[in-house]
Amino acid sequence: MKPLRRRTHQVRIDHLTVGSEAPVVVQSMTNTDTADAQATALQVRELSEAGSEMVRITVNSPDAASKVAEIRSRLDDMGCPTPLVGDFHFNGERLLAEFPDCARALSKYRINPGNVGKGAKGDEKFAFMIRTAAEHDKAVRIGVNWGSLDQSLAKRMMDANLASANPRQPEEVMKEALIVSALESAQKAVDLGLPEDKIILSCKVSNVQDLIQVYRDLGSRCAYPLHLGLTEAGMGSKGIVASTAALAVLMQEGIGDTIRISLTPEPGTSRTQEVVVAQEILQTMGLRSFTPMVTACPGCGRTSSTVFQELARDIQQYLRMQMPVWKDKYPGVESMNVAVMGCVVNGPGESKLADIGISLPGTGETPIAPVYVDGERKVTLKGDNMAAEFLAIVQEYVETNYGEGGKKRNAPRVIPIQAA
Ligand code: SF4
Repeated sequence: MKPLRRRTHQVRIDHLTVGSEAPVVVQSMTNTDTADAQATALQVRELSEAGSEMVRITVNSPDAASKVAEIRSRLDDMGCPTPLVGDFHFNGERLLAEFPDCARALSKYRINPGNVGKGAKGDEKFAFMIRTAAEHDKAVRIGVNWGSLDQSLAKRMMDANLASANPRQPEEVMKEALIVSALESAQKAVDLGLPEDKIILSCKVSNVQDLIQVYRDLGSRCAYPLHLGLTEAGMGSKGIVASTAALAVLMQEGIGDTIRISLTPEPGTSRTQEVVVAQEILQTMGLRSFTPMVTACPGCGRTSSTVFQELARDIQQYLRMQMPVWKDKYPGVESMNVAVMGCVVNGPGESKLADIGISLPGTGETPIAPVYVDGERKVTLKGDNMAAEFLAIVQEYVETNYGEGGKKRNAPRVIPIQAA
């Protein structure tokens, strides 16, 4: 079933469009000290090359704010046009006032209504940030978070709930408070002069079922594009599984216009994993294509060697590494499917369904590996050099089919999704 997208305003962020029929935008966030302009610019470029279409940086201090324009300039010099989003908390209005270059260099501001300040002073600070965004023609994400919910709003709603004839469970009131905080803040922003098509909303929580409930409700109550993500998803497979479980349900219902996967990186690993996971969620759901996908069987007792596991891994890594060049040189290659299978049980069948596939020999089978191209058996590999030979066949296939004049060039298989 093809998911229908929720109809929303469309928000322009430099060359990107977020909302309705526009492709779901992948974004990520740096973990460098923004005051270190060189390290931050390099990490933004790394995330961008991995496929992040917007990158958020924290703007938490005068040192950080003073370097934002330099970061933008360094990125431009590196040929990296990826829009920068400034993440503001507590002192955003002061930083935007003191560093107008920062206000100009950012493409979007993230404002957390729970961290702006209390009472009239908080209202003033919020108004200043919104007016600054409007003045510079910038988009804003009003990003509410379970961990930093506006406490005065929460108290007001909890008190009203207690005084009602049929009080709801406190956790239900808190979820409603998240949504009300986002919607009331958006309305304030509009009243202050920010156009509706400059506003994106988010209401992030860290529990999968709560996130699904909150976003379904939020999505039904407004026409703003939604930034979707499970906050504090965690590390490793837990973070990936929890994020995927939540986002897949919502995106299948057409909810979510830009996504970020909030993974905690394993020490010493690349920040880009969150970008890869975001892309893989979208691609496996058939919503977008980013890089050729490898279909590989899990392996079992029929294949005792690790050859096919290594080949599946090497092919996946090889394809991903080629994409920075291939995406321009071979348009359409991102939709290619490659199968790497461990024996003849399902190997030939899956290989025939893929654009190009290899079926490696299982235990006790003749040590040969038939290669299928567009459903036809093209060649049979044997010997110790099968992996390198298969890679060469993949490369030739890409050049022939996605290069100039290739019959699959510019032919993405995923049908564009339609707004409901
Ligand atoms: S294709 Fe063969 S090796 Fe792979 S899981 Fe199936 S039976 Fe096992």
